[in-house]
Amino acid sequence: MKGLRSAQFLLAFGFAATAAAAQPSELCIEDRVRLDAAVAASFQREFQILLPSWEFVSCGQQAVRVIFRFDPPARYGAALGLAWFAQDRVLPVVEVYLNPVLRTLGPARSAEIVGRALARVAAHEVAHYALQRLDHDSSGLLHPRFASVQLAGKDPTSFLLSQQ
Ligand SMILES: [Zn+2]
Repeated sequence: MKGLRSAQFLLAFGFAATAAAAQPSELCIEDRVRLDAAVAASFQREFQILLPSWEFVSCGQQAVRVIFRFDPPARYGAALGLAWFAQDRVLPVVEVYLNPVLRTLGPARSAEIVGRALARVAAHEVAHYALQRLDHDSSGLLHPRFASVQLAGKDPTSFLLSQQ
């Protein structure tokens, strides 16, 4: 276990061409990595603890899209997730990267732990959108980085929004 050694930035901003419209509190999953069912179930459970007002729906025009991919674009190195913005507006599309999350967690990981970690990364990125914030907090869900022990741990406390 490498525990405390690896802390990762959770966010890198990129640019996208389109601007956002409404601010829904519905999200949908675009799963390009084919998560197994136990990981997906754990993801959903943890996400609803962190952002309880958000509902999972199928992807349509209104929902915030959470895209699971294996790796971030090369220029974002080991980012665990990414929120896109354009003209100071955070867009309703966030990405979560499986391989850097798995590397951060290390070899001792169950489906439950992986799903939980993915949910924490996704909730961080969705919070950037929900609050329309490009900056970070000194604690809580919008802290800019988390140690692997936090990401893997059962206790969600360090991932709750500090304003809640
Ligand atoms: Zn961030």
